[in-house]
Amino acid sequence: MKIAVAKGDGIGPEIMDAVLRIFQANNTPLEYEFVDMGKWVFDKGFNNGMTPEAKASIESLGLLFKGPMETPKGKGVKSINVTARKTWNTFANKRAFQSLHGVDTVFSKAGIPIDITVVRENIEDTYGGIEHMLTHDVALSRRFITRPGSMQVIRYAFEMARQKKASRITCGHKANIMKITDGLFLDCFYEVAKEYPDLKADDIIVDDLCMKLVTRPDTFDTVVLTNLQGDIVSDLCAGLVGGLGFAPSANIGDHISIFEAVHGTAPDIAGKNIANPTALLLSGIAMLRHVGLTENAAVIENALLYTLETGVHTGDFGDKSKPSVNTTEFANSIIANF
Ligand code: NAD
Repeated sequence: MKIAVAKGDGIGPEIMDAVLRIFQANNTPLEYEFVDMGKWVFDKGFNNGMTPEAKASIESLGLLFKGPMETPKGKGVKSINVTARKTWNTFANKRAFQSLHGVDTVFSKAGIPIDITVVRENIEDTYGGIEHMLTHDVALSRRFITRPGSMQVIRYAFEMARQKKASRITCGHKANIMKITDGLFLDCFYEVAKEYPDLKADDIIVDDLCMKLVTRPDTFDTVVLTNLQGDIVSDLCAGLVGGLGFAPSANIGDHISIFEAVHGTAPDIAGKNIANPTALLLSGIAMLRHVGLTENAAVIENALLYTLETGVHTGDFGDKSKPSVNTTEFANSIIANF
């Protein structure tokens, strides 16, 4: 099977090379078509951050594995990542956060396990970037929440929760204040919930959700939210399990899906071969499961978990009294643990 791969900007090429080397050592039956996409492509004059050839390849292959991409600075310039999600209607952003042995957090030290999946609506909300100055002193942004858009992401979340045998599915929202937009999303949630009587469905106001996530994260399982709130809550959840280095993500559409880490290009450490490739590797493992390569996924995941358990760590996590390894050495340790 062939997939499109975009290495991305900043730390992207370093962590992507590490992950592809792990796949190769595992004899994962994937072929790669490397596509031109990212800030460096934008700088060459392609204002959506990809060449027409890259777009055509991704559309014919249906699957993109991507490194992080830098958003070009300047007014009126759209994020390459948001453009990609919109272009291919990847309506659901799934981010799975799990406690990992060897990655110490306040919760792991207290023996509180975390297994939370955040499903974020990925296309609508304020991410249309429809904003302008109403007067010299007043800026206006428009927020779109639609019934079809809400129904498709909420239905995806319920299906995923059922497959995961989730104990609970929760809608995070601010319908007490944004009664029409968030109110519509919440109505859609309970409409879909009727089709899934086997799942315990409830809702919570997003600020209360944040407070409860940091005090009792083990009481949550699957959480579905609108785009902006989902973006913020999922970074909060990344913090619960050890930080952005452990946060994978999948952008799911009907025809095209994009797998990537939650984190960005980490310009402060780019080019130093010290970045943590775990989030991209976890995204790659989720991609292998998505295409049915479940055995390869399991072998690589076990090797990763064992490596973390033995205390091997890059500089961003782990026991600071023990020396850290670089990106290449971290990948080598995983390969040695197959
Ligand atoms: P960032 O995630 O790149 O970095 C935040 C902090 O986390 C930095 O200190 C960085 O060193 C650290 N970090 C991130 N990933 C790491 C890793 N794998 N290993 C070790 N440390 C890691 O966020 P930012 O600085 O706000 O954004 C930088 C650029 O990335 C911006 O241009 C932004 O638009 C872009 N971005 C892209 C994506 C994407 O491609 N999906 C997502 C977020 C941000």
